[in-house]
Amino acid sequence: MKKLSLLLIITLTAFACEQSEPDTTEVISVAESQSSVPEMLPLVEDRPVKNIIFLIGDGTGLAQITAGQYALVGPDGLLNMQTMPVTGIVKTHSSDNLITDSASGATAYSCGLKTYNGAIGVDPNVTPCKTILELAEEKGLSTGLVSTSSITHATPASYAAHVEQRSMQEEIAVDFLDSGIEVFLGGGVKWFSPEQRTDSLNLMGQFKDSGYQVLLNEQDLMNSNSDRLLGLFAEDGMERNDGEPSSELMTRKALEILSQNDEGFFLMVEGSQIDWAGHGNDSEYLIREVQDFDNAVKAALEFAQEDGETLVVLTADHETGGMTLQRQQAEGDSLEIYWTTGYHTGTPVPLMAYGPHALEFMGWRDNTYVGIKLAELLEVGELPILLED
Ligand code: MG
Ligand code: ZN
Repeated sequence: MKKLSLLLIITLTAFACEQSEPDTTEVISVAESQSSVPEMLPLVEDRPVKNIIFLIGDGTGLAQITAGQYALVGPDGLLNMQTMPVTGIVKTHSSDNLITDSASGATAYSCGLKTYNGAIGVDPNVTPCKTILELAEEKGLSTGLVSTSSITHATPASYAAHVEQRSMQEEIAVDFLDSGIEVFLGGGVKWFSPEQRTDSLNLMGQFKDSGYQVLLNEQDLMNSNSDRLLGLFAEDGMERNDGEPSSELMTRKALEILSQNDEGFFLMVEGSQIDWAGHGNDSEYLIREVQDFDNAVKAALEFAQEDGETLVVLTADHETGGMTLQRQQAEGDSLEIYWTTGYHTGTPVPLMAYGPHALEFMGWRDNTYVGIKLAELLEVGELPILLED
């Protein structure tokens, strides 16, 4: 009987592998190694942290970064994110599941506490929690959110809204209105437009009335002259059409505005669609998104190197796709990608840091530690803080 069931398992496993392999293996080309490899940035002397740039590669694990590196700069190259001198590892489980989603993942970073999957800026009892960005606003710092999803999507939303479920994007957009945030750049026209909202609220008009310049394309962003921006460059998530700004341009523009504040700033930049490429098990999409995100990292690192008082931390909310780099069977300079799932995994994610106090992020840390430590270093308060409804 035992033998029979073992045989059955083997047969089923073989069958399952045969079934799934054609859909989950992809071959990508490896770039030639470049003659000049970018240098690892040096450690920076510890001094008070005036500004923080926090970069979240949604769904970005080690395999995603390495595949991006192989495809973009070759085996001996380094992406900009790989030149950050301090590395750590982040545990990502949520309060109700070992496999987090982006809402609880981002809330761990924004509020410094564990919550349930789907939660936006609230704890497991749905009590709102103060975010690092809200604390920074109260202390007179400038703040910004940059994303390639809708700006109301789970990751950016967790910094400036408090709702029970991530799907409540109309409510999230309303929460943004009195947040005091100087710069919102991403997609999501449909959540602000009276024609598309179920309550017909003209949120775009209300943002204009509150002093925001509303931007709808790259040209608007280049020509903008306000220090309060609401950039909505796509109906929902960015579509990568001509006329949409890159993550690098959005990041440079945000830094230009936020750095005018002598008190300092907090900026969150999200590479949202690395996760979407993982869900789709789509390597080419993934490489494009890693490149777009890495160019934003370059902008952040250039700013920080010049400034000397800016801490740059890059990590992910979770890994997506169970992505692995498989033993090479294809001919030539190619890399085989094997995807093990269309959802998130519980594999811990890498963290990279550059700037004053970067060393505090070394080691095997919990995601909540990262949020708590960022707030402590920016000297805006001690997370977590629960608010009454
Ligand atoms: Mg996200
Ligand atoms: Zn996801």
